[in-house]
Amino acid sequence: MRGDTESLQLSKRLYAASALGLVLGIFALDVLTPLQGAVAVLYTIVVLLVSRGHNRTLMLAAGLLSAGLAFGGYYISHWNDPPGSAAIRLGVSLVAIAVTTMLCVRHHAANEERRRSEARYRTIFNAAGLPIWESDWSDAREAVLRRGALDASRLDRMKVSTIVRDANDATARLFGWPDRASLVGKSLAAHYTPAAEATFATIVAALARGDLAIEEETQFLSSTGEVVDVVVRVTLPTGDGDWRRVLVMALDVTERNRAQARLAQSQAELTHVSRLTTLGQLAATIAHEVNQPLSAVVTYAKSGKRWLAREAPDAAEVSDCLDQIAANGTRAADVIARIRDMARKADPERGVIRLAPLIDETVALLRRDLQTHGVAIHVSIPEGLPPVAGDRVQIQQVLMNLMLNAEQAMAETPLHQRELCVDASQDEDDVMIAVRDCGTGIRTDPESLFAPFFTTKKAGLGMGLSICRSIIEQHGGSLSAVNNDDEGATFRFRLPVAAQEVGHGE
Ligand code: ADP
Repeated sequence: MRGDTESLQLSKRLYAASALGLVLGIFALDVLTPLQGAVAVLYTIVVLLVSRGHNRTLMLAAGLLSAGLAFGGYYISHWNDPPGSAAIRLGVSLVAIAVTTMLCVRHHAANEERRRSEARYRTIFNAAGLPIWESDWSDAREAVLRRGALDASRLDRMKVSTIVRDANDATARLFGWPDRASLVGKSLAAHYTPAAEATFATIVAALARGDLAIEEETQFLSSTGEVVDVVVRVTLPTGDGDWRRVLVMALDVTERNRAQARLAQSQAELTHVSRLTTLGQLAATIAHEVNQPLSAVVTYAKSGKRWLAREAPDAAEVSDCLDQIAANGTRAADVIARIRDMARKADPERGVIRLAPLIDETVALLRRDLQTHGVAIHVSIPEGLPPVAGDRVQIQQVLMNLMLNAEQAMAETPLHQRELCVDASQDEDDVMIAVRDCGTGIRTDPESLFAPFFTTKKAGLGMGLSICRSIIEQHGGSLSAVNNDDEGATFRFRLPVAAQEVGHGE
């Protein structure tokens, strides 16, 4: 650095000395020789030489000195001549010196401005907390333009040939390098994950198509082998198709993604707990559902044994008992399978859901509870209702919550009037399910029911509807509530019809 400054000073001095020598030489040539040409025009060379020193005052001084000497030469040699060609030559020389000086000063000012703006750019570049680096992608450009489609081996070569020209400290921190200088001149190929390779291919293709900026989320490997999630923005700053200075900015989103994953995990766990709570409310009726066939199994087993213990065992009766045992065992197993599905793990699973069997199954789970509370149930599902896409157990959880809420809202309704209707319909690209009751109705702003922990029940948690809404919204749908014109309330949710590609099998 010090050596650079010293050699700069030396070359400035050399320019100044040669400019001085030249100025004296031109003056001597002008005054002492009988040359008739515009010798004074040569002073412009002096101005040009001095301008290499990048000093505005010196340039102006050289211009003035040159003009003064040109005039001095004329005064000494031609003052007493009649006006004529010597005066014209002086005029031409003075104009040439003035124009050259002006151009040099302007050029110097433009250079200064460029230097200042580069310094500003560098300050921003280095001070930005955001990793920013400049890469030379000219080999990649060459390869794409020459041979079109990208295959894996060409991508590999391109990856290696893209060299970092400049980088800030944040970039070095992102990739785990000691400092930015150690990155310059290197390729980042060792930091590419398969995701980054795919992103690189996408970006190269987009730039080759003529895009000037492209943004993608991807993953890099740090030098310690850690995966870093980043959003990269790649820009061609000059906009002229020059890939020698491709600007890459990266935003580290690893923490954000981890937080999102943790949030999704907690939401799934909360949904699961809420489902278990709902099942808990049905514990008594579920126990009854299972107990009934089990009692029948015991009864039929005993009576089968009795038929066998007779002096002349009746094989037909025994066989009938065994059939009954098998049928009741299957009934109990069905109930347990339905409950086990509802209670299973927290992680959602996406698939195609046919709503008719799902509603039937949910009604079957609740039927005994509804009967105990004297609620009549009406289900209406049109033929050919299209399927929706999503997690079957979660949608069943929504149906179950809405139906249980409806049942509880009718606790005060006279027995013979308790009626619960589940209606399905199709509306353009959505399937709509309405759960309608004739209970108390909603006594507050219907939207407030969906706030977490809002409850009017003694043992209520107030999480059911809030979870139902988040499930439906995660499935791309919506859930709302209204009071009926006569009595009670209707909860309605809509879900988009499953996309064709999802297929139609369950
Ligand atoms: P919880 O059932 O634990 O109270 P929810 O989120 O399921 O939690 O319901 C919140 C509140 O919304 C209930 O306490 C009740 O006041 C109201 N609500 C829910 N469903 C109905 C309905 N069908 N009719 C009237 N009010 C309802």
